[in-house]
Order: sequence, then C-alpha cells, then structure tokens
Amino acid sequence: MKAMKPPKKPLLFYYGIILVVILLLNSFIFPVIFQKQVKEVDYGTFLTMVEKGDVQKVEIEDHYILFNSAAGNNKDSYYRTGVVDDPKLVDRLHEADVQFTKVIPRENSPFLNFILTWILPLLIFIAIGQWFAKKMQNKMMGGGNTLSFGKSKAKVYVEAKIGVTFADVAGQDEAKEALQEIVDFLHNPKKYKEIGAKIPKGALLVGPPGTGKTLLAKAVAGESKVPFFSISGSEFVEMFVGMGAARVRDLFKQAQEKAPCIVFIDEIDAIGKSRNSGMAGGNDEREQTLNQLLTEMDGFDADKGVVILAASNRPETLDKALLRPGRFDRRVPVELPDLAGREAILQVHARQVKLETDVDFNLIARATSGASGADLANIINEGALRAVRFGRDRVTQNDLEESVETVIAGYQRKNAVISMKDKLTISYHEVGHALVAAKQSHSAPVHKITIIPRTSGALGYTMQVDERETVLMSKEQALDKITTFMGGRAAEEVIFNTVTSGASNDIEQATKIARAMVTRYGMTEEFDMMALETVNNAYLGGDSSLIVSAETAAKIDDVVLKIIKTCHQKAIHILEENKDILHELTKYLIEKETLSGEEFMQILEGQ
Ligand code: ADP
Ligand code: MG
Ligand code: ZN
Repeated sequence: MKAMKPPKKPLLFYYGIILVVILLLNSFIFPVIFQKQVKEVDYGTFLTMVEKGDVQKVEIEDHYILFNSAAGNNKDSYYRTGVVDDPKLVDRLHEADVQFTKVIPRENSPFLNFILTWILPLLIFIAIGQWFAKKMQNKMMGGGNTLSFGKSKAKVYVEAKIGVTFADVAGQDEAKEALQEIVDFLHNPKKYKEIGAKIPKGALLVGPPGTGKTLLAKAVAGESKVPFFSISGSEFVEMFVGMGAARVRDLFKQAQEKAPCIVFIDEIDAIGKSRNSGMAGGNDEREQTLNQLLTEMDGFDADKGVVILAASNRPETLDKALLRPGRFDRRVPVELPDLAGREAILQVHARQVKLETDVDFNLIARATSGASGADLANIINEGALRAVRFGRDRVTQNDLEESVETVIAGYQRKNAVISMKDKLTISYHEVGHALVAAKQSHSAPVHKITIIPRTSGALGYTMQVDERETVLMSKEQALDKITTFMGGRAAEEVIFNTVTSGASNDIEQATKIARAMVTRYGMTEEFDMMALETVNNAYLGGDSSLIVSAETAAKIDDVVLKIIKTCHQKAIHILEENKDILHELTKYLIEKETLSGEEFMQILEGQ
C-alpha cells in the first residue's frame, strides 16, 4: 500500500518564486542609476559647468551629487561628483538658474525590512531542511512519510490491472487445479462452509526456478475478484532491527481489513529458513520476522477469507513449523514441464509473435528436454529477435531452432579465428559423437552437428533429439550416453593418435552419469542397491553428498572409472570399425559447417 504522496512541486518552482521576489525588491530599493550612463567628474568641473550654464538639473544626495548637462554634444549625459562641504552651493545653483533638489533617502517600510531580514531567510532555511529530510527518508524507506515506518510494502493488485489468467499458464494442470479451488472458495465460501470443509490457510508453491510459480500466483490474482497482496520475502528483511516483524504485522492487519483477499509471499525462503540452520548464533532479525509470520498465521481465522500463498525453490530449507498443518498445509509442486507441457508453453508464448505456418512446436519441445518455462519463453523471444535481425516479418522454424541453440549453447561466434588444423580436429570430434550415437541402439537420433563456435565456449556440438520423452533411463541408455560422450575424444585418438583439451565438457557430463549410476541408480554389481548419496537441493541443480566411509568413497571412484573406461573402449572400437564413414562425414562437415539429421543419415546410409 502506498502512503499518501506529498504534492509533487519541484524544488525549482520554489526557487523560482524566491528569485522573482528578490528581483522585484531590488528594483524598488535601488534607484534607477544603474540604467543610466554616469560619468564621474571632480567638484571643480562641476562648478565650472554650473557657471557656464551647462547644467540643467541637480540632485543632491547624501554622499554624491547627480546632475545632467543641458548643452552641446554632452546633452542628456549624466554626471556624478562627490559632496564637498560647500555652503555656497545653493547660491551658485540659484544664480545659474539650475533646477535642484535634495533627495530624501528612501526608507524601506519597517514591514518590508522585517520580511527581508527575518522571514525570507527562515523560509529558505526551512525549505532546504525539508528537502533534505525527504531525500533521506526516501533513501531509507523507499518512499512514504515518517509515519509509514514499519508499513509493509506489499503491492495490492487488482484483477483488472494484472491481466494474467490461468490461460496464460501452460501445462502445470495439477497446480492450476489446486489453486483454482482456493479461488473458488474465496468466491463462494458458503458452498464449503455448509458441508463443513475448511479451506487451507496457506498453499506453498515449490519447484525449480523459472517454472512459473510467480506466474501462477499472478494468475490467481487475475482470476479471483478479491484484493491480492504481493510481497517478496526479501522485502521483509530490512536495515533496521525489528522492521521485518513490524512489516509482517502490518501486512496481516491490512489483509484482515480487506478480507476476503489473498496474500502472496514470493521467495519465502528469505525469511522462512529453518531457524537452526546457518551460522552460529543464527540471524535474530530473520528469526523474529519468521516468528511473527508464524504467530500471524495462527492468529487469523481462515473462514474470514484470507488465503496465504507462498513460493519457494528451496522447500527443504524452510522451517518445519512453517509447513505444519494449519499454516502452509498445502504443497503445490510446480515441476519442470514434460514434452506436452513444453509444447503448450511454446504455444502460449508464440501467441504474441507472428509465425510462419509450418512451425513445428513438437520438434522444438523435443529438443529442449529439461528446459523451464522461462527458458522456453526466452527461446520464442530469441527467435523473434533473430527474425527481425534478418529483416523478416515472420518467425521461421529455423529461427526457433537456432534460438534453442542460442539458449543452450550461446550465440554464434562468427568472427572467431580457428586454424584449419583445429577445425579438422573439432570436425572429427563432433562426427565421432554423432557416429557413435548412430551405431548404438539406445541412443537418441542425431538432430544436428555443427562446428560453428558459440559464445559459451563450445567449439562445436552434436544435438540429439529423442523421438519420445521418457521419464526413466535404463542402464543401457545410460551406458550408451556415456559412450556417446566418449565418442569425441575417441575420434581424435583413432584419427590423430593424440588427444586435445576439447573433450573437457564431455568428460564432466559422462562422469556425472557414471557416478549417478553407481551412487543413486543402483546400476552396478559392486554396490547393488545400496544408498550411497543424498540429494540436498532437488530444485537447484541437485547437489548431493556421499553418505559413506572414506574407503567406500574410494571404491566408488574405482567403479566409476571402470564404467568410463569400458565405454571409452567401446567408442574407440565403433570408430575403428567405421573409419571410412568417419572420414566421409567429416569431409562434409568441414565443407558445410552444419549438418542436419537427415543429411547425416543420408551420408551414413551411403546415398
Ligand atoms: P518462478 O517459478 O521462478 O517464479 P516465473 O513465474 O517467474 O518463475 O516464470 C518466469 C517466466 O517464465 C514467466 O514470466 C513466463 O513468461 C515463463 N513461464 C514459466 N512457466 C510458464 C508456464 N507454465 N506457462 C507459460 N509461461 C511460463
Ligand atoms: Mg518467482
Ligand atoms: Zn565433445
């Protein structure tokens, strides 16, 4: 809620007013002499001029005499001379028949004097003070006035402004269903009360980054016709001790006044982290905020119609107290999209761009297994940008495929300088991957081979796209995958009888799979189905730690190495047997730099 805004007159406006006032006063106080040309002369000259009758008019002031001449080419010019104690001056002037007056010094009115010397400086002082105070406050509070200390910064969304509906969220049907029930409850609570059902107080959206958690919450805001408070967990954590708790209190107070309504706390792990985790001593401020949140969640009656939504991609770090029934008692998983989900997400985002009619979303979806909704939205946008770059007014299939590669592997580095020898090595390496993949029965078909370097550092790569998506990986598939990763290095060995650094990424990937086979999938004789590892962070990369003794860890390494060695030998064997076709494919690849899956198959089948 935004506090009342101070009137928006720029400071310059006030300075302008002050300037005008000063100018006006000046023109009153100072006589007009500034506007005339005045010549200084000595008293003798003055007297001579008077005697000669050259002087027309004299004004005697306190400290000087001002006069103008009446004769010759000096007519109308003004002169000034000092005042001399000259008792005969009046007589002389009289004799010369000159008009003369004594000017009475102008007195400023006492009122004006008072304003000038007291009120005006005071006003300027106050104005500057106020300005600084406001600036400081804005810095510390992010707007508002002093009274808004401890006010929550939750923004109230109104459904008309949000414009996001469930239709904008593709896939995620289970999550949508769960949330739709909550929206329905807020609209007709009677239906639920009559049967005695209690609606959950809170729902926690959990899942990897970019899967649409925030988007889903916005859709809830768009669909429900009730006020929607949205705040991010990190906004509770403040510079001042105690502010977080105050913010929570204020948020819930506002929510209860506006009930029925929805409160959404994004990235709740910022405050909801388990209280006994972290550094020794913990973080008192965060703990206080969390305690306040727990208290508030207990304190209000869900029947009133306040529903709390929260999102997190690290649910395992959340405090258990937050997850117990009566608080966030409903967990809504928002997982990475499957094949159908990816296709649907692509379609949702493609609504906003102009597409060629032959675009095949299914193929793009198949090529992007593991991509999140945010990645897919990015792919569509990159494709549209590419179309513009090439001066087209429609996005083509090629644009989208290229942007898949951009998102996966980075932009093309067109001006990278690569020697012919390196290019040859890279080509054999990539064809090695592709050929090994093609000669195994459990590998996904090759979709594309390219040796165009990428900004990510990849010098070339081979893309495989599965026909169908499988959720399970068999032991054979796992081994074939490792063998395919070995194919690049194997080709270098078979052809050049030497090795290069180009296989570093392959090595990393292959080792990851081999290790998982041993420690997590139970795919080896040696360890059978023994649990050796736990996964800590399922939604954020899934780093895991061994739960075994040091000797066992050493044995695990041995088994992993054995798997990799076996696969490496198999890859070399395949390539030795198909050396001719390896040369042939490489020749084409060097020439064209990119081979499509069909071209690859045609050459392979000897056409
Ligand atoms: P997070 O789960 O990290 O909160 P967001 O909700 O912020 O992810 O998603 C980021 C963007 O990704 C969204 O703005 C949207 O464009 C896109 N996106 C993610 N998931 C979906 C989806 N299921 N349907 C449509 N767009 C999605
Ligand atoms: Mg988010
Ligand atoms: Zn490689």
